[in-house]
Amino acid sequence: MKLTILGATGSIGVSTLDVLARHPERYEVMALTGNHQIDLLAEQCVRFKPKYAVVGDAIGAAKLQAALGQRSVKTEVAYGAEALEQVASLTEVDAVMAAIVGAAGLAPTLAAARAGKRILLANKEALVMAGSVFMDIVRRSGALLLPIDSEHNAVFQCLPQDYAGSPGGRGIKRIVLTASGGPFRMLKSSDLAEVTPEQATAHPNWTMGKKISVDSATMMNKGLEVIEAHWLFGMPAAQIDVVIHPQSVIHSMVDYVDGSVIAQLGNPDMRTPIANALAWPDRVSSGVASLDLCAIGRLDFLPVDLTQFPCVALAYRALEEGNNRAAVLNAANEIAVAAFLDRRLSFLNISAVIQSTLDRVASSPVRDLAAILEADRQGRQMAEMECRSRAL
Ligand code: NAD
Ligand code: MG
Repeated sequence: MKLTILGATGSIGVSTLDVLARHPERYEVMALTGNHQIDLLAEQCVRFKPKYAVVGDAIGAAKLQAALGQRSVKTEVAYGAEALEQVASLTEVDAVMAAIVGAAGLAPTLAAARAGKRILLANKEALVMAGSVFMDIVRRSGALLLPIDSEHNAVFQCLPQDYAGSPGGRGIKRIVLTASGGPFRMLKSSDLAEVTPEQATAHPNWTMGKKISVDSATMMNKGLEVIEAHWLFGMPAAQIDVVIHPQSVIHSMVDYVDGSVIAQLGNPDMRTPIANALAWPDRVSSGVASLDLCAIGRLDFLPVDLTQFPCVALAYRALEEGNNRAAVLNAANEIAVAAFLDRRLSFLNISAVIQSTLDRVASSPVRDLAAILEADRQGRQMAEMECRSRAL
């Protein structure tokens, strides 16, 4: 299988290359992309010898070209948005790992979908923003969409093998997404006022990029995942539940009408869902250690406190209201999280910015990509204003 890895220099990208390197007879890397981490991308090109590498801008491209020239690596270097779409849709590529963070990943992921590729979807923001348009393209092109997000990969494994995206008739009652609760699970709302980016990005169970780490701390990550589950599995909001499970051992569950609950368990390591989606319907080793239940000892579960984590409620509301709401929610969240990481916004004001952005950007239908990009633009513009009015 020949692959393009979008976001190769990120946390998911690095884990993907780790799994691929264990099976060189099975997988071949055709293209790697990264934004600004040129040194790491150069090392990856030396090791995996892709035909193409794509970076963010011309300066990065020149630097990468020079580094590869010195090491006699013949990878062709390109930069910019168009090049990302090109490597995502190359005729010789079978599968695309979509692991760019945020809205920046939408266009190349859609390009892979249009080209009918096997898409390993980590970039949940693309599906949250573009929901029905994205799924329509997948259906029309015959692309195969496989979830990398650990919860959705778990649900995928717990659903009937031939599940075709509609819960009717298959005895499925609901999906239960598990959430670790993030680093601030034990804090009261009043304690959250002073938390720093360093504290917010120190996740108890997972090592991830900064944006998703903050999303885990606000639990917007779970909100985005509820919307993601809706589109991936054709499940209405009312049939998607969230439960806090601090150990992150059960990655999610499917509850059936006969009382059976099927869960997927494993150590919290993204190489498991990555290997699952890469090899599906086969199984390959991932480098993840076997689960030792006796060493773990106990599994705990708690309800989500929506006053402590208002982002979860905002995401459910956006999903139920439909229209451009999820695209605006996602845009406002990206802006608010970036402002928090820049120390321009307090942690508690992340949800406040998203809430008032949703209140101020008018709800309107999104029938095509242009409408989604417009909702994204309006959401970003309004959220920037909301951040400024609450600036630290
Ligand atoms: P990361 O920040 O570690 O990596 C992001 C990657 O995207 C990097 O390669 C970066 O160079 C690239 N990138 C960033 N901005 C870009 C731009 N404007 N143009 C082109 N490339 C750009 O993030 P991550 O933790 O690997 O997460 C990637 C995606 O996977 C996110 O959507 C996240 O929600 C999802 N995800 C991650 C995890 C995890 O464990 N890390 C788990 C589930 C889902
Ligand atoms: Mg997840």
